[in-house]
Amino acid sequence: MSEPADLRYRRVILKLSGESLAESGKRGISGTEMATISGQIKLAHASGCQIAVVNGGGNILRGAQFSGANATVGEATAHYMGMLATVINSLALQDALEAIGLPTRVMSALPVDKVAEKFIRRRAIRHLEKGRVVILSGGIGCPFVTTDTAAAQRALELDADVILKATRVDGVYSDDPEINPHAVLYDQLSYQDVLTKKLRVMDATAIALCNEHRKPILVFNFKREGNIVRAVRGETVGTWIGQPSDSQTQ
Ligand code: UDP
Repeated sequence: MSEPADLRYRRVILKLSGESLAESGKRGISGTEMATISGQIKLAHASGCQIAVVNGGGNILRGAQFSGANATVGEATAHYMGMLATVINSLALQDALEAIGLPTRVMSALPVDKVAEKFIRRRAIRHLEKGRVVILSGGIGCPFVTTDTAAAQRALELDADVILKATRVDGVYSDDPEINPHAVLYDQLSYQDVLTKKLRVMDATAIALCNEHRKPILVFNFKREGNIVRAVRGETVGTWIGQPSDSQTQ
């Protein structure tokens, strides 16, 4: 596939939290939200960018909910349940994308071979090169981490140019903008800033991996129409996190 001149990123990891598939403040999967996000992914894909989606599962279940002495489900079990939730979301997203004509493959780090291919790095790259949207489910297939870590891990091994972290707010703020009206939106941050200011962007393991391998992250509001394609084109959108010396390329 030839790359259009205005394409900034050749290959991206799009990290979608499970909540992005649900109606605001609700759990489960919303057909309307799925259709909206699928339409945005289609636009970004049409720009010629290779897209691998890492799906979360928080709209259904997060393993950490079951931590603590009184939990009826062991925490490790609960994390596996969380991984299965990401598979459920991925199957839904696959059908939503294919309904609008996008070729897809669901791959899973957790074996579920009736519904998804197992994740094999070279095969995933081949799918991407053939223009398929690859939906990565099951996180990294191990408990006690989140799909943010999976996004960082897959970005490294699939040699993605950037992690596009889709959120419901415009980027990274100094405080929760939904609670504090004076919270400041950052244009740019270093990995160290995120860790020392304890900014809630991605989990610390994911940030540490990205820091070690200089993998940039763009945190942006996917609810604003056209933002995924803007992010792929490298337009100024959201908060860019990376090595300060790399930022002039932003
Ligand atoms: N999870 C896990 N290992 C992984 C990825 C996910 O154990 O490699 C579990 C973990 O319990 C997590 C849940 O799956 O909380 C759902 O993923 P996540 O919380 O990242 O979903 P999101 O917040 O993005 O919706």
